[in-house]
Amino acid sequence: DLELSDVVKDFGGTRVVDRLNISIEKGEFISLLGPSGCGKSTTLMMIAGFEGLSDGQVKVRGNRIDHLLPERRNIGIVFQAYALFPHMSVRQNVEYGLKMRKVPAAERKSRAGKLLDLVHMTAFSDRYPRQLSGGQQQRVALARALVTEPSILLLDEPFSALDRQLREDLQREVRALQRSLGITTIFVTHDQDEALLMSDRIAVMNRGKVEQCAAPQNLYKSPATEFVARFIGRGT
Ligand code: ATP
Ligand code: MG
Repeated sequence: DLELSDVVKDFGGTRVVDRLNISIEKGEFISLLGPSGCGKSTTLMMIAGFEGLSDGQVKVRGNRIDHLLPERRNIGIVFQAYALFPHMSVRQNVEYGLKMRKVPAAERKSRAGKLLDLVHMTAFSDRYPRQLSGGQQQRVALARALVTEPSILLLDEPFSALDRQLREDLQREVRALQRSLGITTIFVTHDQDEALLMSDRIAVMNRGKVEQCAAPQNLYKSPATEFVARFIGRGT
């Protein structure tokens, strides 16, 4: 469904993403796991279209999308720094993508309402982003990404500012929703437990490359490299 082939990103003279290859099935949930600075966020930015590729290709259902503008890609995104529109209320933020798609007001309201319920933010609908905590902003960003029912969802540490209870609730709810809608998902996290719990497969990244991409239990049973073994805490 989503395919990265030999994707490269150079910033100045530094190669940050180095011939990355990942192929993701329709509806699959894949985590990118790896140390800080290994290129996870940059990879998502290229898929979303906010960074250009230095080389390689990104394809969705066999068609190249790497030359398309971000808004033409039908991809839902929750960034690490959950930028909401500061001049719009929570509800307006969530409805924004539907408005762009000319969805009628009544339907916008009901779809946004459902998503706000899901992330437990209904009571905050009329507030502005500056009046919310970091975790609350993250939940609104999640609702905003899902409301247009994108075929691809990119999540960059969407739960990192949440307390444990809320994190567990949202892990479950996002996964259920993602499954039921068959949304192909890439999830970036530092948290191995979170990755093991949620993923169909995990891609372990190191210095801009995928060291191994496999189902959680296979990563544990047969890590392909020393790095993978150490990173998922198995030692050798
Ligand atoms: P973290 O887990 O800390 O979020 P990450 O794996 O998401 O890390 P990236 O944000 O993809 O890492 O960054 C990879 C490398 O690219 C880092 O060394 C970073 O400093 C560098 N980098 C990212 N964006 C830019 C940019 N716009 N210009 C120059 N260098 C950049
Ligand atoms: Mg990052």
